Amino acid sequence: MVYDVIIVGGGPAGYSAATYSARNKLSTLVLARDIGVLSYATNVENYPGHESISGPELVQKFEKQAKDFGAEIKKKEVIKAEKKDRKFKISTRDNTYEGKTLIFALGTKKEKLKIENEDNFIGKGISYCAICDAPFFKNKTVAVVGGSNSAAMSALELAEHAKRVYIIYRREKPRCEEVLLDKLKNKNVEIICNAVVKKAEGENLLQEVVLEKDGKEEEMELDGLFVEIGYVPSSSIAQKLGVELEKNFIKVNEKMETNVEGVFSAGDITTGSAGFRQIVTACAEGAIASFSVFKYLKAKK
Ligand SMILES: Cc1cc2nc3c(=O)[nH]c(=O)nc-3n(C[C@H](O)[C@H](O)[C@H](O)COP(=O)(O)OP(=O)(O)OC[C@H]3O[C@@H](n4cnc5c(N)ncnc54)[C@H](O)[C@@H]3O)c2cc1C
Repeated sequence: MVYDVIIVGGGPAGYSAATYSARNKLSTLVLARDIGVLSYATNVENYPGHESISGPELVQKFEKQAKDFGAEIKKKEVIKAEKKDRKFKISTRDNTYEGKTLIFALGTKKEKLKIENEDNFIGKGISYCAICDAPFFKNKTVAVVGGSNSAAMSALELAEHAKRVYIIYRREKPRCEEVLLDKLKNKNVEIICNAVVKKAEGENLLQEVVLEKDGKEEEMELDGLFVEIGYVPSSSIAQKLGVELEKNFIKVNEKMETNVEGVFSAGDITTGSAGFRQIVTACAEGAIASFSVFKYLKAKK
């Protein structure tokens, strides 16, 4: 079967595009590796219609709505996208799917620290998700690297479980909201500023990190290191298809078209919405991308 549209990504942008496409009677396939960055969001308070809802619950609702309108949803990672004979061939590890058009709604993923031994300790002390892994660090000593709201929220989450929590930040003062700094003051959290993590060490599990502070290196004993230094766009499969990027984000016009005919994009992965990367803007871009696909297919008939 050749789908009218294949959507790669199952976050707000992907499911919004799928809902609009399936409701418009386009044969629609969604391929999604996981639920995306909303898996880290404990409480969403600014998506219209929901006063308070967890990120995962909101994505479940988006998915159900798309499915109810007839979108086919497969929880699979796309490893390759090609254009052949004016059709798109999208490959997962065990299958290839064909589509007349393509919407990339790939979102972003957590940035790595890029320090020595980082990969060796992933799942053995180094984590990128405090909400997921904090309970494993009961009565342990942990640190969060970063100074953003996400870093502060991770530290607060960890403070509920760990014996001691440090925030390690490379600048003078964390850039998170004051209200979060106030909350941190009332917890077992210490902020170490002007410090950079250089290396992770341990036998099998993480035991210590090497910190550079004031031009000197020092060892710091830790059971857990949580990386919260930002997000990078997941655009490599689009780039291999010839899609133009700008600082690794997919370049789109106001119709969510890319430079490759038949390829559209939506959500955090794009240069759209003035860089305001939120659920409501991702959904809006998904809807516009779907509308553009609809018009494109109609013009081709
Ligand atoms: C901790 C946190 C809290 C947040 N809180 C809020 C909030 O309160 N309000 C708000 O408006 N926004 C919030 N945001 C921002 C919001 O989550 C994003 O703007 C939104 O999720 C973007 O949607 P998206 O669909 O573009 O990307 P994502 O939600 O990241 O979804 C990307 C999708 O693409 C999939 N994917 C990527 N590569 C592949 C591949 N190769 N094959 C298959 N699938 C792939 C992923 O698995 C995922 O399904 C928060 C973000 C974080 C990190």
